[in-house]
Amino acid sequence: MATRIDGKAIAAALRGEIAAEVAQLKEKGVAPGLAVILVGEDPASCTYVRNKQKACEEAGIHAEQINLPADTTQEQLLAVVEELNHRSDIHGILCQLPLPRHLDDEAVIAAISPAKDVDAFHAENVGHIMIGDIRFLPCTPAGVMELLHRSDISVEGKQCVVIGRSNIVGKPMAMLLLHENATVTICHSRTKNLAEVCRGADILVAAVGRAKFVTADMVKPGATVIDVGINRDENGKLCGDVDFDAVEPIAGAITPVPGGVGPMTIALLLKNTLTAAKQQNGLA
Ligand code: NDP
Repeated sequence: MATRIDGKAIAAALRGEIAAEVAQLKEKGVAPGLAVILVGEDPASCTYVRNKQKACEEAGIHAEQINLPADTTQEQLLAVVEELNHRSDIHGILCQLPLPRHLDDEAVIAAISPAKDVDAFHAENVGHIMIGDIRFLPCTPAGVMELLHRSDISVEGKQCVVIGRSNIVGKPMAMLLLHENATVTICHSRTKNLAEVCRGADILVAAVGRAKFVTADMVKPGATVIDVGINRDENGKLCGDVDFDAVEPIAGAITPVPGGVGPMTIALLLKNTLTAAKQQNGLA
């Protein structure tokens, strides 16, 4: 039976470390500030934003939520971003995605100052991640790396398979694994013999967005299985991309959903906000 990797506990430990650093920074006269822009009232986005706000408050980070109506125009949204770019009390800016369909995600990401881009989505920061000179960690992939580090699972020389190639998860995930000397395979919807490729993995990361997509026959006995997915099953219950009940008896270590990668993403956002505050005050 696999060891369960407890993301909730690991994230709590990390958030405690960040809170201590925030307190030290405040003693030097710098109070880290994060602005979270929410356009519209998508229920999942509202929940994510609320969780981020609460986590910031607990860590002593000033969090400012900017709620804009669903019919906000591109120009109005860009004007809000521009104003935040110039505020010295706001060190990190994020715009909760997805945006309503009439708005252009890419243009908004490009408008956020790279120095305040705590999601690490701006092309400049993506470039930094690519070359390994990392200014802001990509939150979800870096959260996965923290889970591995703090569970004493080394990736060096391991066969790692990432299912998913999105700009937010799959690609930066592969990059972070590569920087730590893993041999990385990225799979996607056109991959042939997916199950066979996955069975070769010492570490399998699923970032597909399909409930219970990774089945027992796709997992090598003893492998570490990291489930990034957040989905609803046929009964409306939260579940990951991995068929947990079937895979747990085979894997060596596994993250549950909820309570695995999810809490880490928020912890890493706090870490990036702290880093941004330090960098903008010449303390990094
Ligand atoms: P995307 O939809 O952007 O990407 C999904 C990827 O999965 C694509 O690369 C796609 O391939 C691939 N894929 C889809 N179907 C198949 C298939 N049949 N076989 C192989 N690959 C397939 O999703 P995200 O990367 O944004 O998110 C992935 C999951 O992670 C979602 O459930 C999301 O909710 C969750 N998530 C969780 C976070 C957390 O904090 N825990 C944070 C961010 C996301 P192709 O490119 O060919 O279309």
